[in-house]
Parts: sequence; C-alpha cells; structure tokens
Amino acid sequence: MIENFLKAKLFMPDDYKKSIFDIDFQSLKNFGISALLIDVDNTLIPYDESVPSEKLIDLFDQIKKIGFSIMIISNNHRPRIQAFSTLLGCPFVAQAKKPLKIGFNKAIKLLGIQDFNKVCVIGDQMMTDVFGAKRIGLKVILVDAIKRNNEKWFTRMNRRIEKRMLTRIKNDAPEYFSRLKLAEKR
Ligand SMILES: [Mg+2]
Repeated sequence: MIENFLKAKLFMPDDYKKSIFDIDFQSLKNFGISALLIDVDNTLIPYDESVPSEKLIDLFDQIKKIGFSIMIISNNHRPRIQAFSTLLGCPFVAQAKKPLKIGFNKAIKLLGIQDFNKVCVIGDQMMTDVFGAKRIGLKVILVDAIKRNNEKWFTRMNRRIEKRMLTRIKNDAPEYFSRLKLAEKR
C-alpha cells in the first residue's frame, strides 16, 4: 500500500476544523500568520456548485479586514477557479498540481511573501493540501469536505489512502490524534 512508504508526519495538519467557518482567523493572525492559501473544491464549495454563498463572501470580507493576504489555490481548471475567485475578489492559482511544490511556490511568489512561517494552507484533502503544504514546510489546517458523494475517481482514491493514513496517525501519534479531534473526521 502506497501510504506505507510515505512519512505520516507529512500528512499531519497543524489543526483540524469541521469547516472554514470554524477557524478563528483573528487567533491565526495573532499567531503570526499573514497569508492564506485556500483550496476551492469541497473546502469552499462542493463540486456541483460554482458560486460562493453570501455567508462565504462575508467570511472573506472579515478575513481581509483582519489583514490577511489570500490566494486561492486549486488543482481544478482555470475557467472554474477564475470565475469563482473573481466573485470572492481574490487572486488565484489554478491547475496547481498539489501536492507538487510548483503551485504552492507560485502562490507564495505571487503574494510576494519571503517568510514561509507566515503562510497557512487551508484545504479538505490530506493527500493534496496537507501533504503538499508539509512537503514545503507550510502550516496547514485541514477541514472536512463539504460534500463527498460526487468526488471524482482520483479524489475517491485519495480518500481511501487518507483513511488508512488516519489509522496510522491514530496508532503512531494517539495524543496528537485526539487533541486535533481527528477521530471526528468524515
Ligand atoms: Mg478540495
């Protein structure tokens, strides 16, 4: 199984929340984070929607008021990500090829950030968002997928590896696992 060859440490998020609405952005800012790289599909909207909700637009307004720079970062194709990001008033990197480093590096460069310690990734997938962030030393907050039943085949495959990785983390780092409440992850 592929997950046996991967270091569990690279799949351990710094924090886990049910949704983006459960993240305390002010605390994150106080903690020294100033830039957010945020995934789209199943983090901000499900695959079968293309427009941000009023609630999400309000949240992004609040996040910007706190003083964060935001970059949308997605493996999905440009037309979808561009249209969505424009509605949120954020720059974006589409076809980011997460978990490869290329898209993350591009996003950080576009934001003009030198210090990787000031960056936090937010996403719903351990195999792309968490693994990608950890490979280049970024902080990452894992959230639950909004709607799992219409995920594509490669995402479903990633979910199977994710499930086994969660079991491994639970066995290797039980204290961390319960502190982050990863047991609740869907
Ligand atoms: Mg996603």
